[in-house]
Amino acid sequence: MAPGDLELVKLTKRYGATTAVDAIDLRVPAGTYCCFLGPSGCGKSSTMRMIAGHESASGGDIILGANNVTDLPPARRGTAMMFQSYALFPHLTVLDNVAFSLKMKGASKDERYRKARAVMELVDLARFEARMPAQLSGGQQQRVALARALVTDPGILLLDEPLSALDPFLRLRVRTELKRLQRELGISFLHVTHGQDEAMALADLVVIMRDGRIEQAGSPQDVFHRPATGFVARFMGGHNVLQLDGRPVSVRADRVRIGEGSADARSVSGEVRGVEYGGATVTVVVHAGDAGEITAVIPEEQFNATPAELGQTRAVHWSRGDEFVLEAA
Ligand code: ADP
Repeated sequence: MAPGDLELVKLTKRYGATTAVDAIDLRVPAGTYCCFLGPSGCGKSSTMRMIAGHESASGGDIILGANNVTDLPPARRGTAMMFQSYALFPHLTVLDNVAFSLKMKGASKDERYRKARAVMELVDLARFEARMPAQLSGGQQQRVALARALVTDPGILLLDEPLSALDPFLRLRVRTELKRLQRELGISFLHVTHGQDEAMALADLVVIMRDGRIEQAGSPQDVFHRPATGFVARFMGGHNVLQLDGRPVSVRADRVRIGEGSADARSVSGEVRGVEYGGATVTVVVHAGDAGEITAVIPEEQFNATPAELGQTRAVHWSRGDEFVLEAA
């Protein structure tokens, strides 16, 4: 394995009778932006905490580069974690907050400040070095936390829901910033989120977890265009999960159109249960009996050419090439 490659082998976490992480296997090549995605309680944070060494593993191994780091203390793993609550020292300046972990490692004051100033430059904090944390905005405090994690020169940076405390505008800005930083540093970022938009926007590798297991891991394109299961299709959104010819199938909502379609198209009909105007598109929901409920997202002009109204019985259709057979509903 190259330095910076991460491999999880049958990694397991049990809390009493609860299995939070159930023997997961995963390979994250060095320099990957990897997002762990899944509903609350699926085991994302436990996985991260085990990789960082803030939680012991109940079983399995964590391999980083050539080293098995499973039982090493956090500071000796070559990982760093940025926590959801930034936990800055209120009585230390920004500069001393960032330099703190180097002091613990016994670095000289000159070296500590030199390294701290270099990462503060990287995250655009240089002008705040003399301030106290209470004199910073939430977004700025977060950048201090980020600088504090990066100052140890980690091979992997772990981020647990780093954007959840920010307002929507700031969230987009910090998101762009994180991606730039990851590319610039060339190290892997492991980022926990429960937002699929966030994962799609940032990740090279999306890891979708469910009940302590990895349901699917792949590029954003993979998990969106070729969801392995109904759970992934529903979680990513924009898909219909239907029962067709006795099998579970996914069809993207933006591939469904109103009307019968051509002879080789798949067509089903049912009652129109929803028509929702959304600006550029109109969302139509048709209840198609055994096949299930079908959502169609239709460009406005096409909808106007073939409209549908609540309560009507209408056909909807899509190309059979747009159907994907799922491993499980
Ligand atoms: P996520 O980050 O996806 O929300 P977590 O890893 O926090 O999931 O939790 C996974 C499961 O483990 C949940 O059922 C949660 O209740 C349980 N769990 C997490 N931390 C602890 C703990 N310290 N003690 C007992 N159970 C825990």
